[in-house]
Amino acid sequence: ETDAELVRSVDLIREVPDFPEPGVLFRDIGPMLSDSTALRAITAALGRDLEFDVVAGVEARGFLLGAAVAQHFGTGVIGLRKPGKLPAVADSISYELEYGHATLELPADTLAAGQRVLVVDDVLATGGTLGAACHLIAQAGAEVTAAAVVMELTGLRGRDNVSGTEIRTLLKA
Ligand code: AMP
Repeated sequence: ETDAELVRSVDLIREVPDFPEPGVLFRDIGPMLSDSTALRAITAALGRDLEFDVVAGVEARGFLLGAAVAQHFGTGVIGLRKPGKLPAVADSISYELEYGHATLELPADTLAAGQRVLVVDDVLATGGTLGAACHLIAQAGAEVTAAAVVMELTGLRGRDNVSGTEIRTLLKA
């Protein structure tokens, strides 16, 4: 894809003030995902020149992006899930959010030790989610090649919570 295609693609991200609560500027990637050219451009850019055996997408928008990246690069995909959804759990990790806690679960029989994993999500904010996802994968004896997100909210310094991992972001704000 060209730079122009990427610029046009991230331009389709919609900003929604005060969602899901007052003071939050929500970045809605829906209009970007539904555009065929944008989806292809974003997908290619998230994985380009990285070496990975499998993609791990974070629930829920990371599922859509992660599956597209996996298909594009010819790998499988793993969905890192919120609690209570999986019939069989390999491992789980809990982490702090700005307000409260969250948990991510790794589905059983999906990730093998030694596999190289590309973690994919839509937005890097405080980094709690991406950091937890990387820990979960490392705990399974696998290796995080990189974490790739469409958008990074740099003011929140989320990178500091994902230390030791290459982070690829297509757009910073
Ligand atoms: P964090 O753990 O704080 O980095 O938050 C990242 C997770 O929350 C990602 O899975 C995002 O989908 C979501 N998220 C956080 N902030 C925003 C935002 N401003 N717009 C859209 N999604 C967000």
